[in-house]
Amino acid sequence: MSNALFDAYGWDHRWEAEFAPYARQGLIPGRVVRVDRGLCDVVTPGGTVRADTEFVVPRDPMKVVCTGDWAAVDGADVGEPRYVRALLPRRTQVVRSTSSKRSDGQVLAANADHAVIAVSLAAELDLGRVERFVALAWESGAQPVVVLTKADLVTDPGTLAHLVTDTRTAAPGVEVLTVSATTGDGMDVLGALLAAGTAVLLGQSGAGKSTLANALAGEDVQDVRAIRDSDGKGRHTTTTRNLLPLPSGGALIDTPGLRGVGLWDAEGGVSQAFAEIEAYAEDCRFHDCAHEAEPGCAVLAAVEDGALPPRRLDSYRKLLRENAYLAARTDARLRSEMRREWKQRQALGRHMIERKRGPQRKP
Ligand code: GDP
Ligand code: ZN
Repeated sequence: MSNALFDAYGWDHRWEAEFAPYARQGLIPGRVVRVDRGLCDVVTPGGTVRADTEFVVPRDPMKVVCTGDWAAVDGADVGEPRYVRALLPRRTQVVRSTSSKRSDGQVLAANADHAVIAVSLAAELDLGRVERFVALAWESGAQPVVVLTKADLVTDPGTLAHLVTDTRTAAPGVEVLTVSATTGDGMDVLGALLAAGTAVLLGQSGAGKSTLANALAGEDVQDVRAIRDSDGKGRHTTTTRNLLPLPSGGALIDTPGLRGVGLWDAEGGVSQAFAEIEAYAEDCRFHDCAHEAEPGCAVLAAVEDGALPPRRLDSYRKLLRENAYLAARTDARLRSEMRREWKQRQALGRHMIERKRGPQRKP
């Protein structure tokens, strides 16, 4: 059922096992490499097919077919339209909280194993920003990796070592690498790390993501990104795939939508991004300790004896506060949506009653 070309897209024994019931129905497995307007490109063992998603349109926007999904497609006869019949449950997903419009999130990439956070060394290192992207990455379920890009611009090795150490402190449990696409330094290490599974690229505009994607792919595959508006948002003029296998192994997801996921989307994952603080907190005397001024606070004690940088605690508090704010805002939005729906139903109810009664004669 599988071949080497197909395996390059990330097909493994676990997917194969999950797919077994669909295989028995005569369906074909494939990975969604691109989605647009109800159609998607699916790479199957027999090649890339274009399939309609109309049979898997869910009510939940989080379950809409997206790049990286593993799909069961039917094996239509030549000339017949093909359809996606089912999606395998996702292992991970990168979600954008569409907080400005509706309360629903939007899935931008499915089944990534690594979330690569590109951070430019051309500007001053902003650890708070790194922490937010790490929280966003953890939230997706993928393993975060921080890649400090443009390392060629930091000429002093001691300075570079310090920047790496600081970043490691801000990202416990996360691999931190330095790379330069210009000199090629560190690219082999990154390539090896991503050789198994699927990676997505996250990071601020200008962080060096396109350059990194091209260097990893070994060619100028991301020609879409080369055509840029002056505001830095990609213009999508060509129909490139958004998921591609890398020559050194592994696959890379780089969808235009992902470029827009930003710091405001780091709603969750805070616990994991600040795992060491949560570990200290287990030893606080009060289990609802706010780590402000409580007696027996193990977190404050860790700051006191130098084990925990005060900046980390500040950052943690800030992200928690922000999450609480976002949650409250979401609730307010939900409440107002419910109110609106209720009013509509009331109006509809009145309308139905009037219809049942028949036209009312005015007195
Ligand atoms: P993106 O917005 O995250 O996709 O960032 P780009 O890949 O477009 O890179 C932003 C800028 O950084 C471009 O002008 C690149 O030429 C530059 N750049 C990217 N990687 C490197 C690098 O390794 N070294 C240096 N010196 N510049 C780089
Ligand atoms: Zn405490």
